[in-house]
Amino acid sequence: MRTETIALPSGAAITLRQISLKEENYLAGALRSRRANQDKVLVDVVNRCCQGFEEPGPYPWAEGGGKVNWQEMLQGDLIAAMIGLRKLSYREGKDYEIDVKCPNRVCNHKFGYIIDLDKDLFFQKLSEESARKLREDETFTVKIGGKTVHFKLGYVKDDQFHEKLEKRFPGRGMATMLRTQIVRIDEVDSKDMMNWLDGEGNGPYEGLLADDAEDMREAFFAVDCGVDTEVEVECSRSACGNVFNMDLPFEGMLSPGRTMARKRKMRRQTEMRDAGKEGSPKPPDAEPEADSETSSAD
Ligand SMILES: [Zn+2]
Repeated sequence: MRTETIALPSGAAITLRQISLKEENYLAGALRSRRANQDKVLVDVVNRCCQGFEEPGPYPWAEGGGKVNWQEMLQGDLIAAMIGLRKLSYREGKDYEIDVKCPNRVCNHKFGYIIDLDKDLFFQKLSEESARKLREDETFTVKIGGKTVHFKLGYVKDDQFHEKLEKRFPGRGMATMLRTQIVRIDEVDSKDMMNWLDGEGNGPYEGLLADDAEDMREAFFAVDCGVDTEVEVECSRSACGNVFNMDLPFEGMLSPGRTMARKRKMRRQTEMRDAGKEGSPKPPDAEPEADSETSSAD
């Protein structure tokens, strides 16, 4: 079984072991189930394959090594760990095939597109200053719409908080996204923070302008670490050639992927065809061990 120490964008480093068939089965089952929380399942698999810290990075609770508590980690670290785990576990793991539908309305062509995880994604490391603030439990600030907004970086556990906000404030997606990272806003009552953001609900504010909101998102991103998961895709229909951006989907990130499945199938078909051509069955002492798929077991 292969293990590898992976440097995360925050500066922490963890050791991962490759995914076993047991986890692959668990994943496949969860992905088929409509009830399973897919994000939780992905965290679960990363967690099972994680053997602990090599470097605590900016996490004071990780000093002295020990178990990785993913909920207390930055989101960028989780994404980087997922990508690292994929590459460690599958021989062609750096190629990630995703389903794409061309957004050009006269085209709408559906096709599979391969993302090169080594080349097509941009990784941003946590700055020294941000790491210091994290260690000292300081908040970050940005001036927006004349007010000072105190915020924190994006943690894995924020997903749960965001879900709660979405339930409480349905249909206010942009504001709930921003609110998730805001700790407090100077001179704004905490119960009015959502109202200050988008002007909805009962409160004294009209809401932010779109470019103020954009400035806030930029400010959040500038001090955080992580992986820019927006990828550029070109429509595979040559008559269309539309180039567009999309968010990298994560559902298939820890599965072997169809590229491999398809290649395997093709290889098998070629082998069968070649065997047929020669008109002789495989010699009994050949193959299984030499087969590249079975030789990687450990
Ligand atoms: Zn198209």
